[in-house]
Formats: sequence, structure tokens, C-alpha cells
Amino acid sequence: MGDFSCIKCKNCNAQFSWGGIYLSLLFAYSPIECKECSTTHKITFTSRFITVFFTALPIFIFIEFLSPFNNTAVTLFTGFIICIIGFLVLPSLVTYRESA
Ligand SMILES: [Zn+2]
Repeated sequence: MGDFSCIKCKNCNAQFSWGGIYLSLLFAYSPIECKECSTTHKITFTSRFITVFFTALPIFIFIEFLSPFNNTAVTLFTGFIICIIGFLVLPSLVTYRESA
């Protein structure tokens, strides 16, 4: 499978893996180190905002509008779909910059 991430190393242009980006986002926006040239990249402030937006908003929408489902299976399935969409979209929206 190809890599859908468009985030590249600012130094050598090597692509960062989705796995690396997810790990960075999961661990409080920890810096990503390029596998090729070891340049460290930090997430931009805007990307932090986007990440919060894309994680908090679906949860908010879910609780506010979708929880009235009486069917637990439907509620869980809908929540699951929202999470998947968020996860797929996020790595293509965040940006990183080279850190000194
Ligand atoms: Zn590099």
C-alpha cells in the first residue's frame, strides 16, 4: 500500500509515515525525526488547533445529535465511522516544520 501522507522532511524531502504522524499526535504532538537525515520536525501551532478541532468536534456532534439513538449498536457504529473519518483526514491536514 502507498503512503497517503503528504508531509515531507523539510531537509531531504523524505516522506513521513502515517504511523509516525499518529504517534506524534498521540504523544502530545511529540516531534517527528526524519528516518533519512535525522532532522527533527515539530508540529505547527495551526496543526495543533486542527487536531483538537478534528478530535473534539466529532465527539461533540456525536453526543449532541446522535446519542438519541435507542439502538446501542447503531450509536457505536456511527461513533466508529466518525472516528475512522477523522483518523483518515487528520494526517493530510497537519503540517510540520523543521526545528532547530
Ligand atoms: Zn530528512
